[in-house]
Amino acid sequence: MEERLYNFSAGPAVMPVSVLKKAQEELLCLPGVGASILEISHRSKPFDDIINSAESNIRQLLSVPENYKVLFLQGGALTQFAMIPMNIIGGRNESADYIVSGTWSKKAASEAKTQGKVNIIWDGKEGGFRRKPKAGEYTTSADAAYCYTALNETIEGVQWKELPNVDKPLVADASSEIFSRPIDVSKFGVLYACAQKNAGPAGVTVIIIREDWLERSPDTLPSMFSYKKLAAANSMLNTPPCFSIYMVKLVTDWLLNDIGGLEKMAAINEEKAALLYAAIDESNGFYTGHADKEYRSVMNVPFRLPTPELDKQFQDEAKEVGLMTLGGHRSVGGLRASIYNAMPREGVVKLRDFMLEFAKKNG
Ligand SMILES: *Cc1c(COP(=O)(O)O)cnc(C)c1O
Repeated sequence: MEERLYNFSAGPAVMPVSVLKKAQEELLCLPGVGASILEISHRSKPFDDIINSAESNIRQLLSVPENYKVLFLQGGALTQFAMIPMNIIGGRNESADYIVSGTWSKKAASEAKTQGKVNIIWDGKEGGFRRKPKAGEYTTSADAAYCYTALNETIEGVQWKELPNVDKPLVADASSEIFSRPIDVSKFGVLYACAQKNAGPAGVTVIIIREDWLERSPDTLPSMFSYKKLAAANSMLNTPPCFSIYMVKLVTDWLLNDIGGLEKMAAINEEKAALLYAAIDESNGFYTGHADKEYRSVMNVPFRLPTPELDKQFQDEAKEVGLMTLGGHRSVGGLRASIYNAMPREGVVKLRDFMLEFAKKNG
């Protein structure tokens, strides 16, 4: 078998080795079932147990209040960009407020415009998406049903340290930070995340929605786009992504049993991120971070070197020593180290040491 490298991919991203091993062990035959998770009915008792424990793990990790439903849907985060306004403001005389702080919230706002009235209440584009707005820089609209934000902008590496304080329910994309720290779910109408950054493989999106909001789904919606109908069917109007849900169950088992919950996970993540930011800050300008210091992401660390040629050389030499997928998003260039929950501290230390050495040689 070839050796695993340290994988800094932004998504699909690194998974805990123990989770992959467990999935490998059980792939031919789920204990007591006689067949693979890939081969059994979604209407069977064994699968029911899996989806129920995935849900109860999520409820436990995030302390999800009783009056919220947890859904497992397909179509990725992008489908939610449209489904949220379609269900929440569709057919109503209401609008939605959007805080645009990076590529993903910008895309979410433009998709929402296909479904209803959207107010961009703050836009960080002119500043190059380096920060979130400060209190007082945005106000909600009287007719807005919700205020939308991306908790962590994966591409720009810009993250809220504290949730925005608004007089409307929040709706948030937590794709690249879910389970990285505790969060107060009661502030949200909808909190959602595609799995392939921090929660499992691609193919499933976790949606946590306040129960009374299910009544907002217009009856005219096709079933597969209606939160109300999907929730009534426990996410199983049709065949769900069984394997992806099974992997989410294993990842959340790992968070609960191996890590010990989200307070612990958050402390580990903070410490890992601080190692890289210190290397950037102490490089005398050789490395430049993208985000303003106050809003630096603990999950995605975009940075650049003095020239694009050095960016490229850094990436090539890093690969040779076992540090892979450090290229920045094609829209911003430079480099980006995604250091999600499953990135071991040793991987971050190895990258940090490589950064120090590369700067010494080429600075
Ligand atoms: C990756 C990502 C998306 C896109 O997710 P898909 O599942 O590919 O649609 C959206 N938002 C954020 C914050 C992301 O990190």
